Amino acid sequence: MARVVVIGAGLGGLPAAYELRHALPREHQITLISNQLKFTFVPSLPWVGLGLKSLSHIQLDLNKTVPQHGIEFIHAAVTAIDPKLRQLTINDPGANGAVTRVLDYDYAVIATGPELALDAIPGLGPEGGYTQSVCNPHHAVLAGKAWEEFLADPGPIVVGAAPGASCFGPAYEFAFLLHHVLQQKGLRSRSATSKRSQVPITFITSEPYAGHLGISGMNNSRWLMRKFMADREIELMENTAISHFEPDAVHLADGRVIPSKYTMVLPPFRGPRFLREAPGLTDAKGFIPVLPTYRHPDFESIYAVGVITQLKAVEQTPIPTGAPKVGLMSEEMALAVAHNIALELGVTSGNHYQPTLQAICFADFGNTGALFLADPLLPDQSGNRRRALTYHGIWVSWIKAIFETYFMTKMRLGWTIPWFERWGFRAIGLPLVEPVTPRAERIQVKV
Ligand SMILES: Cc1cc2nc3c(=O)[nH]c(=O)nc-3n(C[C@H](O)[C@H](O)[C@H](O)COP(=O)(O)OP(=O)(O)OC[C@H]3O[C@@H](n4cnc5c(N)ncnc54)[C@H](O)[C@@H]3O)c2cc1C
Repeated sequence: MARVVVIGAGLGGLPAAYELRHALPREHQITLISNQLKFTFVPSLPWVGLGLKSLSHIQLDLNKTVPQHGIEFIHAAVTAIDPKLRQLTINDPGANGAVTRVLDYDYAVIATGPELALDAIPGLGPEGGYTQSVCNPHHAVLAGKAWEEFLADPGPIVVGAAPGASCFGPAYEFAFLLHHVLQQKGLRSRSATSKRSQVPITFITSEPYAGHLGISGMNNSRWLMRKFMADREIELMENTAISHFEPDAVHLADGRVIPSKYTMVLPPFRGPRFLREAPGLTDAKGFIPVLPTYRHPDFESIYAVGVITQLKAVEQTPIPTGAPKVGLMSEEMALAVAHNIALELGVTSGNHYQPTLQAICFADFGNTGALFLADPLLPDQSGNRRRALTYHGIWVSWIKAIFETYFMTKMRLGWTIPWFERWGFRAIGLPLVEPVTPRAERIQVKV
């Protein structure tokens, strides 16, 4: 019997635990450890931040749901990992105070998502700083409260992404959605009226150009994002580094000061401290290097899925940016990792799988939306991909809302990607996972 432990119950970890349960007979134990009692559908957090949806609508009680599907659930924070001894230290909040204990495992699937590097810029973050974020449920709730206060006494707004950020889509989504909400409240207009000037919006991004998204853009994303900014009279500052924040202003590295009464800036990400402290486990930023199979190159017992995995961007940008890891990629990684662990345990046969890293992302802009398709996520050395397009229309916003309901239903039912969804993706040329060629594995090991 093997014990497979999944750390983190987000968009990567929960599907990974379900897929492992499907792949492995019951004699193998699956344990899911989460420092949160609830699963959160992170892509909907911009709606929570703007008071358009309640947090409870996009959350799921893990204690009730997970054990029903044959998976042990532990509500605890992992505070240390020893990949050589195959041991975790966990901090169990418990009813009678926190209890620290050690857990042995045969395989660990790390799916902690990112830690927000709020110390990267003075004044960044809602606690101890002056900016909002929608990167986790707690921050989205704080952003929603600050938004309510802002509406009572509006003024200029700054939305954007800090140097080193890798997740840019939600910044565009937040800026356009916020414009739409303010327009509905009569605080912004398409024509330059005195009311509109009550709430000027500035978008500041570390990307070399709007629509770059940390992945050298898509065929029409640069043009489209600039057009959306211009149509909405949002001032765009591209390739711009923020130096620090004050309660009522954003200071740029070149000395300019942008007044702001409500600031939502996406921070850079890094790996959580307990991973960074494990010798040889992560890169300098705390991300986990992986082979094509999503196994760690040096530790046979360690696999990783989601944002915590290392992804090397092909392009160096003037101001540092990273490449995003979106939800679909996290699910692809979960499928591949579950299959590969089943293969290692001799439960199944054939080739190892790797995720195709094809990415689809939906963003709601209020009266329209954008679907970003990158196949695969990163272009090759010559800058090419099979497909890289941005589609737009109100239908994208509808699909995003429908997809949220569908995803929450899947997580309730213990499904990862059911057969009809796999077939659907295959039909549009997105196979999600593919066999690893022995050559690809060898090349990665050399690196
Ligand atoms: C605002 C926002 C909007 C987004 N919108 C989209 C979108 O529209 N479409 C899309 O495809 N992708 C989107 N993404 C990206 C997508 O949300 C991520 O790809 C996905 O959440 C990654 O899953 P994950 O499991 O790596 O991390 P998460 O979903 O963040 O889950 C990680 C979990 O691990 C837990 N954890 C952390 N540390 C520990 C520990 N020490 N012990 C135990 N548990 C721990 C965390 O509390 C968390 O619950 C968005 C991201 C953000 C921030």
